[in-house]
Amino acid sequence: MAKKFKGPAIGIDLGTTYSCVAVWQSQNNRAEIIHNEQGNRITPSFVAFTDDQRLIGDAAKIQAAYNPTNTVFDAKRLIGRKFSDSVVRNDIKLWPFKVVAGTDDKPEIIVKYKGGEKCFCAEEISSMVLTKMREIAEKFLESPVKNAVVTVPAYFNDSQRKATKDAGAIAGLNVMRIINEPTAAALAYGLQKRADHVGKRNVFIFDLGGGTFDVSLLTLNNDSFDVKATAGDTHLGGEDFDNRMVSHLVKEFKRKNKVDISGNPKALRRLRTACERAKRTLSFDTEAIIDIDSIYKGIDFHLLFTRAKFEQLNIDLFKKCLETVKSCFSDDKMDKSRVDDVVLVGGSSRIPKVQQLLQEFFEGKDLYSSINPDEAVAYGAAVQAALLSEDAKNVPNLVLQDVTPLSLGTELVGDVMSVVIPRNTSIPVKKTKSYVTAYDYQYSVPINVYEGERKIASQNNRLGLFNLPVRCAPHGLPLQVCFTIDADGILNVSAEEKSSGYKKDITITNANGRLSCEEIERMIKQAVDFKSEDMKHVEKVRAVNALDNYLYCMKIAMEDKSVASMLTLVDILMINSAMIKAKELIDGKEKNDTFVFEDCPRELKSTFESALKKF
Ligand code: ADP
Ligand code: MG
Repeated sequence: MAKKFKGPAIGIDLGTTYSCVAVWQSQNNRAEIIHNEQGNRITPSFVAFTDDQRLIGDAAKIQAAYNPTNTVFDAKRLIGRKFSDSVVRNDIKLWPFKVVAGTDDKPEIIVKYKGGEKCFCAEEISSMVLTKMREIAEKFLESPVKNAVVTVPAYFNDSQRKATKDAGAIAGLNVMRIINEPTAAALAYGLQKRADHVGKRNVFIFDLGGGTFDVSLLTLNNDSFDVKATAGDTHLGGEDFDNRMVSHLVKEFKRKNKVDISGNPKALRRLRTACERAKRTLSFDTEAIIDIDSIYKGIDFHLLFTRAKFEQLNIDLFKKCLETVKSCFSDDKMDKSRVDDVVLVGGSSRIPKVQQLLQEFFEGKDLYSSINPDEAVAYGAAVQAALLSEDAKNVPNLVLQDVTPLSLGTELVGDVMSVVIPRNTSIPVKKTKSYVTAYDYQYSVPINVYEGERKIASQNNRLGLFNLPVRCAPHGLPLQVCFTIDADGILNVSAEEKSSGYKKDITITNANGRLSCEEIERMIKQAVDFKSEDMKHVEKVRAVNALDNYLYCMKIAMEDKSVASMLTLVDILMINSAMIKAKELIDGKEKNDTFVFEDCPRELKSTFESALKKF
């Protein structure tokens, strides 16, 4: 029985491009998607830094074209990866913000904030998005929220999962569980089917979002969900389709106007926004207009983009999706003809060509579209959160059995991968494998831990290395290595030398550039500082508005002849100079750091009020 937590618990779909938050509503027996302050049910995973504030969500995305180098998005594409990773190197070329290699080859994002340079890791940016989602929920629930279930792509590896958990910790959240996005979507689907009282169903979840692609094959039997197989690509989604359009149009622009806009972040951002919009239109229309005034040096960009062109530019990526779908059925767990429902999840699953290819693969089967592709993941996460919360009532007793997406194992002599836990094994799981020492009189044995499907260990992803001290003896000394995967899909490895009688357990806790406890603590503190800075900014804006309003009333009063006639020349001069100063403050021309802003309106107010008393 899983541990339960006290207090409200929310489900967060932390997406590459959009995030969504939901909460179980005991009184209605269902989860509710919570809208943000703009009334939107999904929030862009964007964080922006300006001269005087930090913005998160819609506010950050809206200003992206004007502040491209300090508007950060796609942090999920960086999380848990190394700077030297070829995926990261390629992405950097397309991002307007700066990414450099930090300690341990960890990517660091550099932005300008309040006039100085600031550096963040992907976990910190993601933690800001998580904080925003939490605040959206807190406003709705009118209470503080600490507990959350956060989703990750099923195909996220161990370090990406750990890094996501760290992001939650920095946001001050208690991440009760990390669950896979397609599995969460399956929960949403399952609840709907449960209401229809259907029996056993085989369901295939196809989740194509902005940055990642995931598929999962599950069996739903009454209240139990068994994931049979999962596959995916942590770097394939709507943004890649946008990129293809952008690259094509940059070439078109160059051909037509003999000007290259590829080095201009502002023009590129505007072009990208227009492409994304056109792409959405092409999901229901066969043509879309791209219309950008004065994109570069006064030149307008106006053209008609067809669905056929969009498909032609992306067909190889669409086919790549289908290859992944096929791989889910190659593990011999089920034949595709036994699938009852093919469920579409993720914004990009709306693309007609993608749907057509998928339908052909499933031999003409109708695709299931009764769940909202943007919200299903958060919905399922909220259900899982409710299952782990002491406070939630009327939660259906669903049992979720997920699987590990990648094989896990150790390296044998000769760079051979020895699999301890094969991919698609149900989790949580604990497996032990016996080995023997390879050389005479070794003092220690290096244990190299890898994940991946290649037979050559070094071609897989190395999660960590530790040395197990052993009794000095001829080769053939027995060793035991134990792999444990918890319900979050996170791995711990321990090893033991059996024959000597003494045991030594070693656990990999800090694999692959994971943040240390001290770093997390420092970042939590920094997050609190950021929050108070944000609050200060809000207060400042409020004060400026109040002052502006006051000035306006003052101006009207001064224009009233009957009032003006009662003032002395000194009064008028005083009021005028106070008004000029106040105006400068409002316009931001007055930039005296020692000046306590909150005091100013009061000071001005008393000036005005003492003058007004004479009226
Ligand atoms: P993620 O979870 O990766 O952030 P989402 O599932 O929220 O992604 O999907 C966002 C992606 O879906 C974006 O790339 C967006 O452009 C794309 N998208 C949304 N609606 C449509 C549509 N109608 N047609 C095509 N693409 C769409
Ligand atoms: Mg998603």
